[in-house]
Amino acid sequence: MVSKNKSEVKTSSKNSLKVSTKMVYFFDEGNRDMKELLGGKGANLAEMTNLGVPVPAGFTITTETCHLYYESSKKFPQGLKDQIDSNIARLEKTMGAKFNDSVNPLLVSVRSGAASSMPGMMDTILNLGINDQVVEALIRKTKNERFAYDTYRRFIQMFGNVVMEVEHHAFEEELHKIKSRKGVTLDTELDAKDLKELVKNYKALILKITKKSFPEDPRLQLDMAIVAVFGSWNNNRAIVYRKLNDIHGLKGTAVNIQSMVFGNMGDTSGTGVCFSRNPSTGENKFYGEYLMNAQGEDVVAGIRTPQSIDQLEKQNVVLYKQLVGLKNKLETHYKDMQDMEFTIQEGKLYILQTRNGKRTAHAALRIAVEMVGEKLIDKKTAILRVEPNQLDQLLHKQIDPVAKKKGELVARGLPASPGAAVGKIVFTAERAEELSKNKEKMILVRTETSPEDLIGMNVSQGILTARGGMTSHAAVVARGMGKCCVSGCQDIEVDEKNKTLIIKKTGLRLKELDYLTLDGSTGEVFKGQLNLMEPTLSGNFEILMKWSDEFRVLKIRTNADVPRDAKVARGFGAEGIGLCRTEHMFFEGDRIKAMREMILAETLEQRKKALAKLLPYQKADFLGLFKEMNGYPVTIRLLDPPLHEFLPKEEKEIQELAKELKITTQKIKSISESLHEVNPMLGHRGCRLGITYPEITEMQVQAIMEAACELTKQKVVVIPEIMVPLIGNVKELIHQKEIITRVANATLAKYKVQLKYMIGTMIEVPRAALTADTIAQEAEFFSFGTNDLTQMTLGFSRDDISKFLPEYLHKNILEKDPFAVLDQTGVGQLIKMAVEKGRSVKKDLKLGICGEHGGEPSSVAFCHKVGLNYVSCSPYRVPIARLAAAHAALKSK
Ligand code: PEP
Ligand code: MG
Repeated sequence: MVSKNKSEVKTSSKNSLKVSTKMVYFFDEGNRDMKELLGGKGANLAEMTNLGVPVPAGFTITTETCHLYYESSKKFPQGLKDQIDSNIARLEKTMGAKFNDSVNPLLVSVRSGAASSMPGMMDTILNLGINDQVVEALIRKTKNERFAYDTYRRFIQMFGNVVMEVEHHAFEEELHKIKSRKGVTLDTELDAKDLKELVKNYKALILKITKKSFPEDPRLQLDMAIVAVFGSWNNNRAIVYRKLNDIHGLKGTAVNIQSMVFGNMGDTSGTGVCFSRNPSTGENKFYGEYLMNAQGEDVVAGIRTPQSIDQLEKQNVVLYKQLVGLKNKLETHYKDMQDMEFTIQEGKLYILQTRNGKRTAHAALRIAVEMVGEKLIDKKTAILRVEPNQLDQLLHKQIDPVAKKKGELVARGLPASPGAAVGKIVFTAERAEELSKNKEKMILVRTETSPEDLIGMNVSQGILTARGGMTSHAAVVARGMGKCCVSGCQDIEVDEKNKTLIIKKTGLRLKELDYLTLDGSTGEVFKGQLNLMEPTLSGNFEILMKWSDEFRVLKIRTNADVPRDAKVARGFGAEGIGLCRTEHMFFEGDRIKAMREMILAETLEQRKKALAKLLPYQKADFLGLFKEMNGYPVTIRLLDPPLHEFLPKEEKEIQELAKELKITTQKIKSISESLHEVNPMLGHRGCRLGITYPEITEMQVQAIMEAACELTKQKVVVIPEIMVPLIGNVKELIHQKEIITRVANATLAKYKVQLKYMIGTMIEVPRAALTADTIAQEAEFFSFGTNDLTQMTLGFSRDDISKFLPEYLHKNILEKDPFAVLDQTGVGQLIKMAVEKGRSVKKDLKLGICGEHGGEPSSVAFCHKVGLNYVSCSPYRVPIARLAAAHAALKSK
């Protein structure tokens, strides 16, 4: 009996044009390709219905209808009610049940479901259709009064909350009153009489708060529920979720109306969740949990411990076999691991939902590779099944998720370098070095790091800094080392003098040697020691990497400064070095002394003497790098950072240096002072150093070429690419090129070696991009330094962005940190222009990127699109870049 015209829900007269539009689809009228129109859930329910999977019957109101509803000032578009009515009639016929029937009443669920999954963000109403008359019918039918009243009170509670907007806790209070009067603590301890009373009290509560009666008419209940689900498309939660997950351009939510089946109708009923393969290991073994005599929410709430799916085989082999058959059918059909919800109602099995299951990185690899072996999917599909960023999980230590849940989160910063670390807090690089001799594990905590901290960083497990963005020194160096780092952590204050780390919000003070745990993949900082899990690389990893190599167009290089990092990168498949930051070679051992001597020199002679001391060190490093990269190109960048970074800052160190160089501390201080810059990132650095001190360029080129010549004689294949940093004017390049050519050719002549070397430049100053055609006449290659290019194009300091970035992200001024994800619309345009201008002059100009974006998947896709030859990234991101490059190539076909 469908009652009509009682509805409070208004119909629009404005949309008469749309009357003929089909707004409602019975499940057998849709299919999986109709996600846009029917939402993900609706499309899958339709697909399953057509496959012959036992799905409780139902119908879907389209996402377009939701859109029309909003367009019509939140009124039902004309014709919708009639379409719903005729689908209800069909549903009633299919189920042999009727709304408001006194013998066999129909109850339905009303669920949201957009084209993209938005789990838990929108509304759902279960058990709709129940009222004072129907509950009696339900008792007669099930002979279970408690079940019927429990269903009734659950419905009023859900409907009252979601549709009539009575706060959840008001219902909880009513429930609590009855429980405490009876002296019980669990809902399950209430009997039918109690629940019947609860139904009465709930209704009274709704009337009191909303001044409206609870609607007894199922058809009216349904219309109101549909309005609520449409409304939930634009609740705050859903809006924020769409923003955070980059979900744009959807019309609205679909509404799925499906007949209810009950897992709590006694011992032959039950409900469960299962996966066609193990979602954490990927093993091809049926995996899942279920509970007999329960509803879905009981499984989720964790009040009763569910049983493993294997138990079902022992309990009811026929049902188990049917379920296994269905999971095989669904997995074969969707050609992916399925996550399924099922309900058994009085011995009959129903599938309520299926979707591609979420999985760990390990599982993603194993499933992808094994499905190719099983001929279920091809290699291309397998590659696209694994998200490049997911590989991070495999390459670094992780915090044990169980430990993490219990951990005390004290602060949050930028996820600067992935992985996890546990250690004792130290505040200086020296202290870290000292403790490392006793094999202690440390976390180096600094306001910000400078190149001086390199050794301390190297011996620490992880690095935490209060300042600095994703391309700050700490972040770049940590990523190169594969070391966990949280940078730009605004929640902390570092009192280096008193060796105290202060958590600003709580005032918590942590001292030197207190334990800290960092998660560099999320930016989280925990107090104390949490359990870590070691990374493991499976054979499947290698297989998927090799398949990626078959399809990618971009070459993958690495940013490496020392042979150790180069070796790691080669192990991960790097095909050359795209950036060797030579300054990083100057910090270890005695080198820093010679470097400081060079900087403090007052005459050319003195400087040359100091440079002569540096030459063998540099040469030794280049020998190591070239050997490691035998046969692959190595791009070496001439000195780049401002010189003050190399000088000591602490009094004690200044005194030691003065003693060693036999000069006064005053002299060091005054030279330091003279090197001070207001904005060093825009100051005396990059090629400006080589132009003002040509002897530095001379020494570096001599070291490069001597190493190259010696190794060539030993039959190592050396391909040196000498790179000039930070040019904005072609004349800067011409100046440096003259020195490079002169010294390189002289060295080749001295060694009597024939060797091809290249001279190129970084494009990292906007003017260089704008004049790339002129620059290309002088350069054999370009490498886009997108760290500086981002800094200078956006006018955001690399080191200070963390101060305002959280606000910018929160206020949606920026969608992503531009130092982590390439700003394609701004910086990307400069790159595109430089590529076009450069190649218009030199068709085969070699083009690469060596900024930190070179290992970020969406930026890699951009590099593929604009036609770069290679991307270069830190060693631990090489596998991510290999996979991302394959994704880019496959998706652009
Ligand atoms: C760059 O600016 O992108 C770059 C690679 O150089 P650095 O980070 O050393 O300035
Ligand atoms: Mg740079």
